[in-house]
Amino acid sequence: MIVDANTVESGSRLAADVCIVGGGAAGISLALSLSGQGLTVLLLESGRTTPHEATQALYEGEVSDERLHSPPDKYRQRRMGGSTTIWGGRCMPLDPIDFETRSQVPHSGWPISFDDLLPFYPQANALAEAGRFSYDAEEALGPAAQPMIRGFDSPIVRTNGLERFSCPTDFGTRYARRLQVASDVKVLLGANCTAVRLEADGQDVRELEVATLAGKRFCVAPRATVLAAGGLETARLLLASRDVAPAGVGNEHDVVGRYYMCHVAGNVGTLVLNGRPNDVRHGYEVTPEGVYCRRRFAVAASEQRRHGLANAVARLHFPRITDPCHRNGVLSGLFLARGLISYEYGKRLNDGTRMTPGLYARHLFNVVADPIDTTAFLAHWVTRRTLAQRKFPSVILRNRTNRFSLEMHGEQAPRADSRITLVEKTDALGMPQLRVDWRYSSGDIESVGRTLDLIAQELERSGAGRLDYRRETLEEDLMRFGAYGGHHIGTARMGSDVRTSVVDSDCRVHSVRNLFVAGSAVFPTSGQANPTLTLVALSLRLGKHLSQRLELTS
Ligand SMILES: Cc1cc2nc3c(=O)[nH]c(=O)nc-3n(C[C@H](O)[C@H](O)[C@H](O)COP(=O)(O)OP(=O)(O)OC[C@H]3O[C@@H](n4cnc5c(N)ncnc54)[C@H](O)[C@@H]3O)c2cc1C
Repeated sequence: MIVDANTVESGSRLAADVCIVGGGAAGISLALSLSGQGLTVLLLESGRTTPHEATQALYEGEVSDERLHSPPDKYRQRRMGGSTTIWGGRCMPLDPIDFETRSQVPHSGWPISFDDLLPFYPQANALAEAGRFSYDAEEALGPAAQPMIRGFDSPIVRTNGLERFSCPTDFGTRYARRLQVASDVKVLLGANCTAVRLEADGQDVRELEVATLAGKRFCVAPRATVLAAGGLETARLLLASRDVAPAGVGNEHDVVGRYYMCHVAGNVGTLVLNGRPNDVRHGYEVTPEGVYCRRRFAVAASEQRRHGLANAVARLHFPRITDPCHRNGVLSGLFLARGLISYEYGKRLNDGTRMTPGLYARHLFNVVADPIDTTAFLAHWVTRRTLAQRKFPSVILRNRTNRFSLEMHGEQAPRADSRITLVEKTDALGMPQLRVDWRYSSGDIESVGRTLDLIAQELERSGAGRLDYRRETLEEDLMRFGAYGGHHIGTARMGSDVRTSVVDSDCRVHSVRNLFVAGSAVFPTSGQANPTLTLVALSLRLGKHLSQRLELTS
């Protein structure tokens, strides 16, 4: 059942076996997995089914450096479905090496292994509508699969891994019907959890305070609570709940909000491949079940260990869009139209280059001089993206020259001083806003550099091509747009040591017996993968744990 929280009487105290705070990918996946298990589930979702300005404003806050991190009300979406209402849909699991304690990545090591999560990935793939859980090109595409680059076969730099693409599925819209008809799940829209109240001994959640923007106030007293409010908001809620635990819930050791990670990403260098353009698969392929997928360069785990590298991948990408020298009408058209594109998708189209009449004219010339490609692209975009149910994932251009840049997406090592804290300013419901101080390390840049060196070495060794990049400008290239926008990781990290982690291997807050966290906040490290598939898998694992645990204690 889905109802408006304003229908709840002010002052009432609602009961449920499990209360989930947040109806994004994490919260919805968890609610679906708990449905049918003999439990009652109450899901509190702040937003509605459509964007709502006053609700989105509850996400406002500060950043210490806007060049490095977007304001906290950008990227995050405070509505049913959360950020999956605008996500790109790129899916891939973490790699087994990501769970290991690695000397090259300080503070690394998960208390669970890849094998612990593996049973939940196929269902996560299904919920994300990303097809089979198969991320090897040959296995997913069949024996007729062509290599990414003909003539390039390296045991050090692998190209047989895939990323798959969701529709992209908006979890709020896609699963509304299932939640609506589930007799054991109640979703309250417009319900903002403003505090987690503990029993006097601090060991159990007594109740959750809930407020609506229309002025209703009530509380929920569940047997178990799961915070699934997103990687930043979950930490904000823990830090803001200070009546019994003065430093915030679960924050006895000052870990909540620390170790905040995104990904280190940017376009780097020039790669010139030998051979014919037809020998290179730089765009999307389609699996037999109709899912778009794409290859990338990835350093083998054994080589990451040997060379002391953090995890990173590189995708074949088009040249720098702001520079009209690329002479591509589609790229110039995109650059000229960037003002019409949302903040989240327009940001990486604008590298700070100042628009001058001369620059404008050169881009316009590219558009006019390239009518065939520009028209073909528009037709393709309308039919395969705008009107299609399963959308073509991103702009891919015909490449006649075999010249590319590399789009890097790399892990950043967790560091305690990369963190979110609270400020005095409050939102419309009286909750302190957050302040984001995202930091990266020189080691993160160094690791991407050495990954590029390995890729260059292997391309040259195999005779497949040549990669040139400037080490002196690598940091600038990777930090041009700051942290990768929508990935909010590590603020309530999982671990077995209470001094360096917030939740245990079951995602339970160490110091509170009935409080759990779902989402990328619990990842101790980020790996190279986009986080959503893994956070959904973790939610499903948590669902299994909770139904067993609550059955035992009923
Ligand atoms: C532009 C963009 C592109 C992206 N592309 C990809 C991609 O290609 N692949 C990928 O893996 N990931 C991608 N992501 C990231 C992905 O969207 C997130 O990882 C995922 O949506 C997080 O899900 P979540 O449920 O943990 O959190 P959220 O989506 O943030 O959901 C949290 C929910 O909690 C609600 N909420 C917040 N506070 C409260 C409160 N106090 N009380 C009640 N409810 C509350 C919010 O309204 C929201 O619905 C992208 C993100 C963006 C913004």
